[in-house]
Amino acid sequence: MIKEIAIRSGTRTEFIDITDHVQKAIEETRIKNGICYLYVPHTTAGITINEGADPSVSRDIDEHLVKLIPFNSNYHHAEGNSAAHIKASLTGSSELVFIEGGKLRLGTWQAIYFCEFDGPRNRKVSLKVIREE
Ligand code: ZN
Repeated sequence: MIKEIAIRSGTRTEFIDITDHVQKAIEETRIKNGICYLYVPHTTAGITINEGADPSVSRDIDEHLVKLIPFNSNYHHAEGNSAAHIKASLTGSSELVFIEGGKLRLGTWQAIYFCEFDGPRNRKVSLKVIREE
């Protein structure tokens, strides 16, 4: 079964910590041990795991991606959001996290971020939990 987490981004680019939402979705499956597969079905948003304790880290990533990949350049794509497409490819569209004892087995400082690159929009993250035999 695939679950969906609904997300509403509030700005053009934004890193949204979805760790608690993912944990809640896992608890709803009642699966204690296994693998959680997260998938972002969008071409201008991504997903990444990085530091969650200090919000400055995701802010730095966001700001420096904007410097590396400017909103306006000699892009061919006529829709005007090529920067968002490029950033989505860089961050990727999926993550895998182990589940142990009903909890996400993340590192102490890790959090799961939905990466908005062309907001604000209504978005979703698909989630599938595979039970360990
Ligand atoms: Zn586009």
